[in-house]
Amino acid sequence: MQRLSREIAAPADLGLAGVIGVPEGAPLKLNLRLESVMEGVLVTGTVRASATGECVRCLESVERELKADFQEMFSYPDADDRGRAAEPADDAEDDEDTLHLEDGLFDLEPVLRDAVVLALPLQPVCREDCLGLCPDCGLSLNDDPDHHHDAVDIRWAALQGLVVTDQDDEKDNMSGTASDGVQGAAEKQEK
Ligand SMILES: [Zn+2]
Ligand SMILES: [Zn+2]
Repeated sequence: MQRLSREIAAPADLGLAGVIGVPEGAPLKLNLRLESVMEGVLVTGTVRASATGECVRCLESVERELKADFQEMFSYPDADDRGRAAEPADDAEDDEDTLHLEDGLFDLEPVLRDAVVLALPLQPVCREDCLGLCPDCGLSLNDDPDHHHDAVDIRWAALQGLVVTDQDDEKDNMSGTASDGVQGAAEKQEK
């Protein structure tokens, strides 16, 4: 049995694309325990890293310290051969899950990727009670919790302006029968 501590640089695209992840080159701190067992080496470990992303409510940047545990069996190449002889050859699914030692080395990257991604929040928030953005104008409600718009929405005011303009055009351009819809809108305006 052997214990190892290593600090390595994070590989590219470690995380949930566009949401949160560990930036490429940022330190990953590893504590590993390597155990020699019959069919290979059992690797048990912990990874610590700092992930950065955006709050899903207000888009402010978010930083999270994360810690993830993992355990993986790396088999000797010949252990697999023995397995193949004993089992039906078409057991491809089982093959994919088996990781192997190659020339006395094991590749921890896929294991670390799985561990880190599982430890990341799917919907990171800057704080639990983040108020998010105003749905009307995009202002951060965290900066101004009392922010609100008057009952008449400015966007509808702009559309009302368009209705009047359309109607004016039709008076000029169309023969007598303006559509009911435009007339209805015009009546509402007058009231
Ligand atoms: Zn937020
Ligand atoms: Zn607003």
